Amino acid sequence: MLLLLSQNSGMCAKMDSLTKAKRSWNMSRIRYKDTKPEMIVRSALHKLGFRFRLHVKNLPGHPDIVLPKYRTAIFVHGCFWHGHSNCKDFTPPKTRTEWWINKINGNIAKDKLSIEQLKALGWRIKTIWECELGTIKKEKTIKTLVDELNNQYE
Ligand SMILES: [Zn+2]
Repeated sequence: MLLLLSQNSGMCAKMDSLTKAKRSWNMSRIRYKDTKPEMIVRSALHKLGFRFRLHVKNLPGHPDIVLPKYRTAIFVHGCFWHGHSNCKDFTPPKTRTEWWINKINGNIAKDKLSIEQLKALGWRIKTIWECELGTIKKEKTIKTLVDELNNQYE
């Protein structure tokens, strides 16, 4: 009886923590729409006079920032959720590692597909990673983006 009870409670704890992990993942997906890294890019482009649309639903992968005039779609990706390879900000969690890896691999596959589909539609794609928008790197990242946009339009 005692043994059964402890087994049960052990199982409950496990299920509860999985639910929590899932919940926090869902929440971060929701919050993702207005994350700070994306805001950095948006406000920089806005200040420079670029016109864009946000979270365009009718395009594959719902790009975060779309510049119709430049036929360019920008994704601002969190290094963790989108599995930025060789990035110090991407370390899979030590617990439920397999579950997280599956989730993140799913995101990577989706991102790859979206990019292929967008390219097929004639869009240029630019992926900006969260780690490229840190205090030190952000200026260079924005400058590179703006230079690329300007060169495209000429
Ligand atoms: Zn990164």
